[in-house]
Parts: sequence; structure tokens; C-alpha cells
Amino acid sequence: MKLLIVEDNPALLDMISTHLRERGFVVDAVRTGGEALERVGAASYDAVVLDLGLPDMDGMDVLRGLRERAMVPTLILTARDGLAHRIAGLDGGADDYILKPFDLAEFEARLRAVLRRPGLRAPPYPSFGDLSFDIACHAARVGERNIELTPREATLFEALIKNGARIVVRDMLADRLFGLADDVSANALDAIVSRLRRKLAMLESRVSIETMRGIGYRLHDGQDAR
Ligand code: CA
Repeated sequence: MKLLIVEDNPALLDMISTHLRERGFVVDAVRTGGEALERVGAASYDAVVLDLGLPDMDGMDVLRGLRERAMVPTLILTARDGLAHRIAGLDGGADDYILKPFDLAEFEARLRAVLRRPGLRAPPYPSFGDLSFDIACHAARVGERNIELTPREATLFEALIKNGARIVVRDMLADRLFGLADDVSANALDAIVSRLRRKLAMLESRVSIETMRGIGYRLHDGQDAR
């Protein structure tokens, strides 16, 4: 799962980002509305956490801008109290609203609830060939057999299975897996692909991950060849 956190308070941004990374999320952290809109236009996120009080833009304008660029679930953070703001936030397309100061455990629970809501784009159990992906349990599945995936394996598997036989390019996968992190070695993506291949083999799936050299990866349903 990849998240964009928009918060101008550096200490709070760091605390939220660190907490979510420890929980296995891939987190891009930005401090302004302008950066948020730029990132949302350039990458795809599973959810956005948006502080309404930003230095460069009104948070409600950022929310509208996000909505114009992507149908991404949004959790609003704000110190502004009062019903009027809450209604404005929800009317503006926010999926939930949390008032500062907040407890990190509550924040994470609300964020997970936003992520669980049926999206406009994705079916709950994407599938390809004999494989399916149980997003909520982070598990790959063949028939009755399940295997649990690590957060990064799950992010990779989700991208591949949602694209089926279409090629998913390496840059897009690296962006989803590692976000804005520096120093990602070229081998890091290959290592995750190798681990996911081993797990699919353990499930005895007839689907395999094909390497398109220099381009990316795609799934191949072994039954097609028979
Ligand atoms: Ca703020």
C-alpha cells in the first residue's frame, strides 16, 4: 500500500511517516499543497492523508485539486474544530476527518477503514488465471491454498495481478515499492520479484512472472500454452 502524507509540521510529518513505514506502508511525505498535487499527478496512491492548514494553499483547494487528478481515498487531518469545517471537508470529497491532536493508533485505524472502503476502480479480489489476491489479508491464493505476503511482495503482486497479461514497467513498480526513497539499488526490485516467484511456486500456481528484459514484468498463465 502506498500513501501520500501532506503535512507542513515537520515533527508531525516525521512521526506519522515513521509510524506508517514501520507498519509496512510505502510513504511519500510532502509539506506543501503544491507538492501534493504534483505527486498525485505523477504517481498512484492508495490513499492520501491531508492536513488542511498548509502554508501555500488552502487545504480545501488542495482537496479539490486531488479529486480532479485521481479518485484516491483521502483522510483529512486538521486542527480546525467545528462542524462547518467537517461538513465542508466531507462535501469536498474527503472520506474521513480526524481532528488534531490525535492518537496514532486511532489515526491508523481510521486510515485502514478508509483503505478498506470499496474503491471505485478495484474489485476486492483481483484475479488472474488460477491466482487471486486477498487484499485485506495480504495473501496470494490458489483455490483453498493461501500464502501470506510481506508488504512489499503484496504491493508488487497487486500491481501485477491488476494488470494481468499487460506489462508493468520497472519504473512504475520501483515507484510504488520504494516511493521517493533514495539509494534504491537496481537489485532491490529483482530481489522482491524472486521472493514472490518462490511463493507462487509454493502455491503451485500455473501463473508465473515473466521478465520482459529492460522493460518490466507481467504475469503469464501457463494454461494458455497448452
Ligand atoms: Ca498545518
